[in-house]
Amino acid sequence: VTVPVTLDHHRYDVVIGAGLIERAGAWLAPILPQKRAVVITDETVAALHLPRFMASLEETGIDARAFVVPVGEGSKSLSRYARLVDDILAHGMERKTTVIGLGGGVVGDLSGFVASSLLRGVPFVQIPTTLLSQVDSSVGGKTGLNASSGKNLVGAFYQPRIVLADGDALATLPRRQRVAGYAEIVKAGLIADPELFSWCEANGARVLDGDPAALTEAVRRACAFKARVVMEDERETAARDGRALLNLGHSFAHALEAHFNYDGRLLHGEAVSIGLGLAASLSVALGHARQELGDRIDRHLRMLGMPAGLDWFDAPLSARELIGYMARDKKMQDGRLSFVLLRDIGAAFTSNDVDMDRVTEVLRRAGCEA
Ligand code: NAD
Ligand code: ZN
Repeated sequence: VTVPVTLDHHRYDVVIGAGLIERAGAWLAPILPQKRAVVITDETVAALHLPRFMASLEETGIDARAFVVPVGEGSKSLSRYARLVDDILAHGMERKTTVIGLGGGVVGDLSGFVASSLLRGVPFVQIPTTLLSQVDSSVGGKTGLNASSGKNLVGAFYQPRIVLADGDALATLPRRQRVAGYAEIVKAGLIADPELFSWCEANGARVLDGDPAALTEAVRRACAFKARVVMEDERETAARDGRALLNLGHSFAHALEAHFNYDGRLLHGEAVSIGLGLAASLSVALGHARQELGDRIDRHLRMLGMPAGLDWFDAPLSARELIGYMARDKKMQDGRLSFVLLRDIGAAFTSNDVDMDRVTEVLRRAGCEA
C-alpha cells in the first residue's frame, strides 16, 4: 500500500508493506539521483537488519557506506551530529549522494537533519523500523536534535524522497516498543478518526501481539491520518487545529518524560498513553466532554495493559512539579499554556485558556500529590 504525501513544493510516497528492506535496492535505484548513498543506523538495527539492506543496495549497483551510531536518544546530540557529519564528509559526499536513515525515530530525526544540512541539503530517504517511527515521526518532515536546554530545539523541516515502512522490521521489535508506537495510533483516532479508534478497540490486542496483518493495517490508517494533517498544515502555521492537534496528550506526556529525565525508564509512547487519559479527564473536568468519553478511553488502554493513569508509577508524582514542566515546555512554543482537548472521539480542538487549577485537580484525582 502507498500513502501519497503532497506538499506545496514536493510530493513523495510512504510505501507500507512486507519485504521492503529486502527489496530496498529495487525501490531506490530508480529514484536516487546518483547510485551513491550513505546509510545512518543504530547499533541494534545494524545487527538485525543492516546486512540484508546493504546486500539489496549492492545488488542494484548502489554504492553505499553505513555509519552506525549508539542506540538511544543520546545520538540526537549536537556532539554526535558533529562527529557524524565529519565522518561522512571524510568518506566523501557529493550533492547528489543520498542520505538514508534506517532505524527508529532517533535515527530518522538525526539522519534527516544530517541530510538537510550537509552541503545545504542532499536527497533523503527514510526507512523507519519502529512502530512509532512508521506511524508518526517518518511522516511530516520534522527533523531534529536535542540541545542542553531541551528536546528537538535544533532542527529543520526536510522531506524525504520516499519512506519505506517495512512490516517485517516490526517482527524484531520488543513488545514494549510496540506499546509505545500504538499509543500514537490511538491518539490519531482520538484526534480526528473515530473509525480508527473503533478499529483499535476491535484490533488493538492483535497489534500489540505483533500480528503482521493488524500491524500493516494500523500503520496504513495512522499514516494516512498523519499525511492528511501534514498536507493541510505543512509547517505548523495554522492558527488553530492543524498540526497542533497532533499534540493531544503531549503536554502531560512531556511533563512525565521530563520528570524521568528522558532516561528510558518511561518511553515517549508510554508517556503519551498516560497523557491521552489525562487529556480526556481534563476535557471532562472542563465540561467539554461527557464522562463516558473518559471512561471509554481509559477502558481501552487498561484492557490492553497500556499505561493509563498515574497509578502506573510506583510512587506518587507531584502535581506542582509536572505543571512546572508544562509551563516551561509551552513557554518555548508560544508563551501561553495551550492544551489539546476532546469534545468526543475524533473531535479534538485546541484551547488557550485552560485554568491551571483544573489541571492540578485532574492530576490530583489521577493520583498526584499536591
Ligand atoms: P528509537 O529510535 O530510539 O527506537 C527505539 C528502540 O528500538 C531503540 O533501542 C532501537 O535501537 C530499537 N529498534 C529500532 N528498530 C528496531 C527493530 N526493527 N527491531 C528491534 N529493535 C529496534 O525510538 P522511537 O520510539 O522509534 O523514536 C523516538 C524518537 O522519535 C524521539 O527522539 C522523538 O523525539 C522522535 N520523534 C520525532 C517525530 C518527528 O515528527 N520527527 C515525531 C515523534 C517522535
Ligand atoms: Zn508523540
